Order: sequence, then structure tokens, then C-alpha cells
Amino acid sequence: MNGDPPSASAKDNPRKDKIRRAGKALPVLMRSLEHCDLCPRRCGVNRLKGEKGYCAAGAEPVVYSYAPHHGEEPPLSGRSGSGTIFFSRCNMECVYCQNYQFSQSGAGKKISARDLGDIMLELQGAGCHNINLVSPTHFAPVIVEALKYACSDGLELPVVYNTGCYDSLDVIRGLRGLVDIYLPDMRYSSDAMAEKYSAAPGYVSNNRAVVEEMYRQVGHLETSRGIAYKGLIIRLLILPGGISGTTETLEFISGTLGSGVYLSIMSQYYPAYKAGAYKELSHKISREDYDAVIKKMRELGLHNGWVQPFHAEFDERYAGENLPPEDFS
Ligand code: SF4
Repeated sequence: MNGDPPSASAKDNPRKDKIRRAGKALPVLMRSLEHCDLCPRRCGVNRLKGEKGYCAAGAEPVVYSYAPHHGEEPPLSGRSGSGTIFFSRCNMECVYCQNYQFSQSGAGKKISARDLGDIMLELQGAGCHNINLVSPTHFAPVIVEALKYACSDGLELPVVYNTGCYDSLDVIRGLRGLVDIYLPDMRYSSDAMAEKYSAAPGYVSNNRAVVEEMYRQVGHLETSRGIAYKGLIIRLLILPGGISGTTETLEFISGTLGSGVYLSIMSQYYPAYKAGAYKELSHKISREDYDAVIKKMRELGLHNGWVQPFHAEFDERYAGENLPPEDFS
């Protein structure tokens, strides 16, 4: 994997640097498809020969939709929108998934890496501020291939890796210099909860190691005229009854990454998909759930980012809708 530091020319010509890095990362990532270990499940299937693992994804990307998105965090959406590409399938299986229509069913259009690169350029042409890859984990190799094409054809926008963050540490190391903004979830602080509600064994230690690597690569969020061009934003979806363990995750973040990290606190949980079958997940979060998280943030001095108001509504036109921020500093 290309975990090397930026070359001398990277600052002067980031596009050329990305083309170089993509060329270096691609053979390693493609080999991963022959015995898929793109995520911690390590299914070992040969996706190049049509075998399917847990996520049921093939080798070619399936895109559910793409468009300028105005509901992401403010420095991502800006005035012209975040160039969001929603990939079909997911390597997690959250019983409360708000995108289950395409994350679990595989709905969408199968396209080539070249087509995917063209979509990126189309979003750039539409004036978007970034390319926002939603659920990219299981399609990482072909995304890198698409980036190589798109950068060769003039893609200049920052690349956002928007992930549930059940990712392979090796794959994330290989994305150094290709991804500008990491947007990971930290969904749980208990492996038992991650296994029960997202079928994601070993989630917590893996998730934390991956977020630390992301931070090493891009650091705290950096903006220019209010638009993000580099850095880390951690998304924390509060689940009812302390299931997400968000206060413990905040302690980890504060102790490991410091108080300057940018957070996006999401209160929009509602019982989607199969959540109604779980009594503890069959309702929205309580005032106590919400207040405990805000109180912990204040205690820890975590002051950067955005928090949704209590009981923010989920807008089904968008995944990851984030309402206008409240200043909670
Ligand atoms: S990306 Fe899919 S096939 Fe590959 S290891 Fe993960 S779940 Fe299995």
C-alpha cells in the first residue's frame, strides 16, 4: 500500500500526485478482490470471478444515485452542494439502516470505473465543492481506478470518504494522499452492540484504529472561505438507551485525538428497516440520551463541529441529512 509521505511536488500539483498514488495503490487493491479482504470480514472470495461475499457486491461499482447534496455538514455542502455518489450494498448490516433500500437490496446501476470517473467530472462541472463517496468500502479498488481516470481528465475537487467505518486498516493506509476528507462513523463503543445491531464483529477496536489512521493522514478539518478541503469529521449517530455508547466514544476521541477534532452529532435516529423488531430500538432517542452526549462533549472540551437539535427529522430525500448547526461551544 502507498503509505509514503507526500512527494515534493504534491503540494504544487495535487492532481498529478493523486494520479501517481492511484497508479501505485491500484494493483494492491485489485489483488485484494481475488481473495476479498477489503474489510474486516475478510470473506476471501474471488470477486473478479463473480464470487460474492457478505456484502454481495461484485467487482464493478453499482451506483444508486448521484447529485449535488445540500444536507451534509455545512463546510461540505456549502452553497453549491456536496457531489454525493451513493453506492449500492454495504459491508455492515445495521438493523436500523436509513438507506436500506439500496444498502441491503443492491438497487442501482452497474457501471464501469471509467463511467464512475465521468460521474465525478460531471459533479465537478455542476459546481459541487467535493466528491462525496457514500459507503465506498466494498468498492475501494474501482473507486481508486475511477479517481485515476478522473484526475487525468481534470478532477480537482477534494475527495470525501464517507464510511460506516468498518474498514480495513490496510486499505485506508493505501488511500493516503487520495482521500482529502475522511467522514467516518463511530457507531458503537461495545462490540456486543455492534454485533447484535450491525452484524459487525470486532467493530470497536477496528473502527478506532482506522479513525486514528485517518487522523494521521489528514489531521483536523481545514477550510477555505467556509468550504472544507482537508481533514477529519467524525459522525456520531446517537442510538436510544445508550446502545451507541456515544459518551464512551467521545472519551476515546478526546483522549486520543484531542479536543480540536470536528464532530457531527446526529440526533435523527428513527426506527427504520428492521428496527421495529427490537423494542429498545423501536422509538426515537430520549431527551436523556441527547443531553448526556451534549454534557459529555462540554465536560471534555470538544468544541468543534455540528450538533443536530434534539429530535432532528430525517429527510428521506437524503442520506446523512444534517440540519443547520447549533453553536454548542
Ligand atoms: S468487502 Fe464484502 S466481500 Fe469483501 S471482505 Fe468485506 S464483506 Fe466480504
